[in-house]
Amino acid sequence: MINIAIDGHVCSGKSTLARALGRKLGYHVLDTGAIYRGLACAYRDRGLTQINEEEIKRFVDSVNVKVAFDGQVQRVIVNDKDYTPYLREEEISILSSKISPYPYLREKVLSIQRDFAKKYNCILEGRDIGTVVLPDADVKFFVTARPEIRAKRRAEQLNDKSITFEQVLKDLEERDYKDEHRAVAPLKVAPDAIVIDTSDDTLDETMDKCIRAIKKNR
Ligand code: C5P
Repeated sequence: MINIAIDGHVCSGKSTLARALGRKLGYHVLDTGAIYRGLACAYRDRGLTQINEEEIKRFVDSVNVKVAFDGQVQRVIVNDKDYTPYLREEEISILSSKISPYPYLREKVLSIQRDFAKKYNCILEGRDIGTVVLPDADVKFFVTARPEIRAKRRAEQLNDKSITFEQVLKDLEERDYKDEHRAVAPLKVAPDAIVIDTSDDTLDETMDKCIRAIKKNR
């Protein structure tokens, strides 16, 4: 199977790029952040307010996580509840980045990701795909953009006038910091990854760069 890893910062454009490449190459795409988000939804649903190793372990042992595809739409189902409609809420963005550093929870998500990569020619996008999940991926990209540009994209996605641009930028920088500084599977550029900065490029320009790299490296 051919596996492509796409890692990168929050709102760097990696999901859009992964979907566009998936369509172009006819590969399956797995948004791995959505799995952490689905778990965060279930965590919130349980009314769990404490986040520590013990609580996380109890929680992880009590959940069954499934990813299903409805055409192009990826659904995340935890204990038979479909959390797809809630995945993009800002509260879930923040909670998912708080629960994702725990190794016990990451182990659960790891097996889902690797099983997927074994089954399909695919693109996995996340934070630790090229470094931890698929260290032998055929091609690895690390996608980034300047923080202000990413915060602008995030504010447009949220379309919520009650959250200021400064707050969006602050939340995003805090999430970057957490992802980059956690002890387990921190966000970093794999030594063999190709860095793609989407700050000033259109999607077509970014796609061209990636397709050329895939042809060369595959
Ligand atoms: O990519 P997305 O913003 O949807 O990811 C949600 C959260 O899940 C991130 O803030 C990050 O903490 C976590 N995550 C991770 N490893 C991945 C994908 C996402 O830790 N491979």
